[in-house]
Amino acid sequence: MSTDDRILSYLTDMDGVLVHEDHMVPGADEFLAELRAEEIPFLVLTNNSIRTPRDLQARLRQTGLEIPEHSIWTSALATASFLNEQRPGGTAYVVGESGLTTALHEIGYVLTEVDPDYVVLGETRTYSFEAITTAIRLVERGARFIATNPDPTGPSRDGVLPATGSVAALITRATGRDPYYIGKPNPLMMRSALRRINAHSQTSVMIGDRMDTDVISGMEAGMRTILVTSGISTKMSVEHYPYRPTMVLNSVADLAGRVRTPFAAESTSPH
Ligand SMILES: [Mg+2]
Repeated sequence: MSTDDRILSYLTDMDGVLVHEDHMVPGADEFLAELRAEEIPFLVLTNNSIRTPRDLQARLRQTGLEIPEHSIWTSALATASFLNEQRPGGTAYVVGESGLTTALHEIGYVLTEVDPDYVVLGETRTYSFEAITTAIRLVERGARFIATNPDPTGPSRDGVLPATGSVAALITRATGRDPYYIGKPNPLMMRSALRRINAHSQTSVMIGDRMDTDVISGMEAGMRTILVTSGISTKMSVEHYPYRPTMVLNSVADLAGRVRTPFAAESTSPH
């Protein structure tokens, strides 16, 4: 085994990898326990910007997964991290919920509708015509347009829900301005997550259940990637993309006993 095979840190998508709606993916608890036992730094990623890490921690606990707040990385946190680097101490008009407003308050942003530096759009279940009108007028007057994630829809028990990408399209249609999206598939989401745990892309793995978000952004951030088929993708679907993950597994349960060297068995080189 070469040192290059050793994995020192993990990023993992949440939905479809660790949980399925309100249920834990079997073996996800043991996978996380093994990361902790091996003292491997990790972050759990989600493109959804509605909830704070504390809310998500509580939601995950109900499924049987114990994940500390500081191990959760949302598109809202990635957005705040981006804005803090680009324009520290700035101002923003926010259309979103506590996951986003809390993240922006924590970096010292002032939330205002008076001449803000940015309009920041996130996920919400209570879009108001008034708030969207304000956002449109501010973008027209020159506020920079940022959105936490491009997902057009999100899942619910009763069917799809319009998500951030769909509302962004409405604002774009009205203003002629496209937002800059921070969440997956923007590799920025991976890079900010890696920085957060002082990890390096070459020795890190991104695990996800989607080729067009998790795998592509992990790959573009320079990481090795694992596609799990416990969520939205099947083994066959990999062939429909011009890129591929480093490895395909049924679920994170398949990593049991080999979190340090997940690719060692795949290697044909005679180490
Ligand atoms: Mg997923």
